[in-house]
Amino acid sequence: MNLVLFGPPGAGKGTQSRFLTETRGLPQLSTGDMLRAAIEAGTPLGLSCKALMAKGELVPDETVIGIIAERYDRPDCKNGAVFDGFPRTVPQAEALDRMLAERGKKIDLVLELKVDDAALLARVESRIKAGGVLRSDDTPETLKHRLEVYYKNTAPLIGFYKAQGKLVSLDGMAPIEKVTAQIEAALKGAEA
Ligand code: AMP
Repeated sequence: MNLVLFGPPGAGKGTQSRFLTETRGLPQLSTGDMLRAAIEAGTPLGLSCKALMAKGELVPDETVIGIIAERYDRPDCKNGAVFDGFPRTVPQAEALDRMLAERGKKIDLVLELKVDDAALLARVESRIKAGGVLRSDDTPETLKHRLEVYYKNTAPLIGFYKAQGKLVSLDGMAPIEKVTAQIEAALKGAEA
């Protein structure tokens, strides 16, 4: 099964993807994590993305499409994967459909986590208050910009996947376990 976890920055996509990895054995394919690993490793790809990511801008479509295709071809994705933070633009979604079709696969379901902006800002502020290690883009200012980028470039995917009949919208404001339960129910519905 191939799933897309979709939603604004800080909606809880990573948390819910990890749950799907544990319960369904589907690897989490997070382009954000892959890009941060490339920055950490100091690769040319990482260096080319660092400034854009720190500002909350998207990196070029070809960059993420390339790393996703390479990652998807590893053996652990033979039964599918959870795409987290990818696709983020319509061209990325079209490229993902093509990539999967070439392999005889498809996206089965797109799970949208709906969270309003005020709650996302409150989440960043509470992470800052709690201390700990924060990402360079995890500040209220950068989040505001990432939300603008989300509404402009990524939100159009809601219509894209709705038209394909694959979109399931969930209440991402609910406590983590309630969101997980909604995801389970959506998967059971899709499998039935
Ligand atoms: P994330 O961890 O998913 O919030 O991603 C962190 C940052 O990585 C984003 O703000 C973008 O700069 C970059 N990024 C991650 N995934 C993508 C993507 N699919 N398309 C373009 N940029 C991305």
